[in-house]
Amino acid sequence: MKCKRCRRSEAAVDLPSHNSAFCPECFFVFFRRQVEEGIRKFRMLSPSDRVLVCVSGGKDSLVLWDILSELGFRTEGLHIDLGIDGYSARSREKSLAYAVSRGKELIVVDLRAEGVPIPAAAKRSSKEECAVCGTVKRYFFNRIAAERGFTAVATGHNLDDEAARLLGNLLHWDSDHLSRQHPLLPESADGLVRKVKPLWRVSEMETAAYGFLKGIDYVTEECPMSEDATSLVYKKALSHIEDEMPGTRRRFYQGFLHQNRDVPKNSVALDQGEETPPVKCISCGAPTYTEICSFCRLKEKVTKTRGRS
Ligand code: AMP
Ligand code: ZN
Repeated sequence: MKCKRCRRSEAAVDLPSHNSAFCPECFFVFFRRQVEEGIRKFRMLSPSDRVLVCVSGGKDSLVLWDILSELGFRTEGLHIDLGIDGYSARSREKSLAYAVSRGKELIVVDLRAEGVPIPAAAKRSSKEECAVCGTVKRYFFNRIAAERGFTAVATGHNLDDEAARLLGNLLHWDSDHLSRQHPLLPESADGLVRKVKPLWRVSEMETAAYGFLKGIDYVTEECPMSEDATSLVYKKALSHIEDEMPGTRRRFYQGFLHQNRDVPKNSVALDQGEETPPVKCISCGAPTYTEICSFCRLKEKVTKTRGRS
C-alpha cells in the first residue's frame, strides 16, 4: 500500500482510526502535528517554559521527551527509581541511556534512598499498589519542579491511557475524578506546578510506532506490580471496541473534553472545598490539607516499621 500523504513511498504505519496509512517520513509529520495541536488547543506550553519531563524508561515518556525537544522546548528529564527489584534498574538504565545519547540532563530520585521504595510503601498502605505509587510519583514530580524552578511538569499519558481512565471514572460515576480529568492542570497559587499531558491526542500504537521508527530504545516489560491493575481491564475493553469500530476511542475522549470546556483547578486533594486554601506540610513544606502531607505520613510508616525489624 502507498502512503496516503505523499503517494510515492510504501506505507509503513497503518492508521485505521484516521482512515490513513503513512510512510515513515509522513508519519513523523502527522505525529508532530498531532502533538503540536494537542499543546496548542489548551495553550499548554509556551517557548519560555522550562519543562520537567517525567520519564519512566517506557516508550511514551521517552517519545514525549524526544518530540518536545524536537519542537524546541527547554526540557530536562526526571526519573523516579521506584525500588522494584530488577525492573527499576532496567528502567533507570534506559532513561539514562536516552539522556546521554541526546546530551540531555536527567534528574534521578531514588526511592530507596528517600526511605520509601514502592514495595515497602505498598505493604504499609491500605491503598492499591498503583495508587500508592501514583501518590509518591506525583509528590516528587511537583517537589522537584517547584524546588528547581520548572514552570511545567509533562507526563507521557497517551490517548489510550486517558480514554481508559475516563471509562473507569464513568463506570463508577466518580464525579470528583471526572471533574479533574484534563490534559492541562494549571499552576496553583499554593505551590502546585502546571501539569500537562501533550500526548493526549496520540494513541499507544502511534507512540510505539514513533519510538520504533526513531530508534528510541525503551523498556518493554510492564511493571511487575501492576499486573492486576484495573486500568488494564478498561484498556482491553476499549481496544476491543476500537478494533470493531476504528476511531471510537478518539471520539469518546475528545467528546468528553468538548463537553467539559472548563480547565479544572489543580489541587492536592480531590474533595476539599475551594474555600479552604491548603497549608504547608510541617515536615516537608508541600501543600496539604492536613498538618502532615500524605507522602510524609506514608514515609513515617515505612521508616518506623523498618526501624523495628
Ligand atoms: P504510568 O502511570 O506508569 O502509566 O505512567 C504515566 C506517566 O507517568 C509516564 O508516561 C511518565 O511520564 C510518568 N512516569 C511513570 N513512571 C515514572 C517514573 N518511574 N519516573 C518518572 N516518571 C514516571
Ligand atoms: Zn510533607
